[in-house]
Amino acid sequence: MPIKTIFLDRDGVINKEINYLHKIDDFEFIDGIFDACQYFQRLGYKIIIITNQSGIFRGYYNESHYQELTQWMLSQFEINNISILDIFHCPHGPNSTCSCRKPKPGMFLKAKEKHNADMEKSWLIGDKEVDITAANAAGIENTILVRSGHRIDESKSNASFFLDSIQQSKKIITA
Ligand SMILES: [Zn+2]
Repeated sequence: MPIKTIFLDRDGVINKEINYLHKIDDFEFIDGIFDACQYFQRLGYKIIIITNQSGIFRGYYNESHYQELTQWMLSQFEINNISILDIFHCPHGPNSTCSCRKPKPGMFLKAKEKHNADMEKSWLIGDKEVDITAANAAGIENTILVRSGHRIDESKSNASFFLDSIQQSKKIITA
């Protein structure tokens, strides 16, 4: 059975945006994130996180720092009765020829194949236009750009909806 999925960007959507965040002490969840994810689960969605982590390429932190932070983040979701199905990250830099760094759709396509995600019934919530571009290229038409992370230019965006943060997504995602 294909699954319907909420694809989440991490920085600026799940946690407050800090450049090259890699320390647990600096990780601050955005208000309403757990409530929103519990709501998505009640609607029958699986949750997958898709994140660019060029700080690894840039040498600001390494893969094991990233994994340590990820395990801690997952433990916080678990405490709040939220199960994250999978997390994909791109460790490469802006000039990389990799197929995973957003705005390329590689991580979304990998998730689709691995978990049999039904892209037509899925959503992407991001804070940058590259999130929207990557999702669209992977066949996800339902997209939300949130204002809780990077500054966005709504007049030039291809996002379907704009919200202050993931906290308001209940208004948009209703089935
Ligand atoms: Zn990559």
